Amino acid sequence: TDFKSDKQPTWCPGCGDFGTMNGMMKALANTGNDPDNTFVVAGIGCSGKIGTYMHSYALHGVHGRALPVGTGVKMARPDIEVMVAGGDGDGYSIGAGHFVHAVRRNVDMTYCVMDNRIYGLTKGQASPTSRSDFETSTTPEGPKQPPVNPLALALASGASFIAQSFSSDAMRHAEIVQKAIEHDGFGFVNVFSPCVTFNDVDTYDYFRDSLVDLQEDEDHDPTDYEAAKEVILDADKEYQGVMYQDENSVPYHEQHGVTEDMSEIPDGAPEDAMDLVREFY
Ligand code: SF4
Repeated sequence: TDFKSDKQPTWCPGCGDFGTMNGMMKALANTGNDPDNTFVVAGIGCSGKIGTYMHSYALHGVHGRALPVGTGVKMARPDIEVMVAGGDGDGYSIGAGHFVHAVRRNVDMTYCVMDNRIYGLTKGQASPTSRSDFETSTTPEGPKQPPVNPLALALASGASFIAQSFSSDAMRHAEIVQKAIEHDGFGFVNVFSPCVTFNDVDTYDYFRDSLVDLQEDEDHDPTDYEAAKEVILDADKEYQGVMYQDENSVPYHEQHGVTEDMSEIPDGAPEDAMDLVREFY
């Protein structure tokens, strides 16, 4: 697609991040976006490299801080499509506080978390979503604590859109991300993106065999909060699809009347904002 840059990804062959990124690019194209109006923000981790591999405006930021940067971009330019990407370590550990607040502010951006349940870039330590008995070099007997349920965390924080997808289910993943982009508010998608190098438990086969698609459950109504809660808190099954969507969601910039391009330097401000920075330092 137009969103593919000419940089060759250095992800391990077979990494789930390829499929996650492809679906994001497809969803952006399907929603009529183009590289000129798209800003991708990423944190640190294997997932953090995505801004280099996508052809759009991008910022590869600090560990766990992608969401505040995305919020800033959206507040300055509400007309721009903001996609934020990260991993389970980046988003649910060091970035967990930012996650809660971005969710409750309902900033109109899409957040795709490439959840492989491990720290891949640092060579295989337990992450916030690792199973309690997942053995790694730093947790030889497993982390011995229950994993974070990111969907429940989002629901408890007041999310207006909660979904989950699987990078290998290409069409479905792109479709779910597309719904997140089209949502008026914070579109959160937890994407299972297997780490083929360091995680031999949460594999492609595991997700292929165990994921239940909500599309096949005609009774599931994502606008029904109680139904969403049931699916999200189900300890026996893992689902893909849109779990919850608040149809009356009003994005943060609309709640606060930020409707214009705020990137222009306002009257009375120094002509060159950098002068102010230089003066300060
Ligand atoms: Fe992907 Fe894991 Fe390799 Fe990182 S270490 S690129 S997550 S397979």
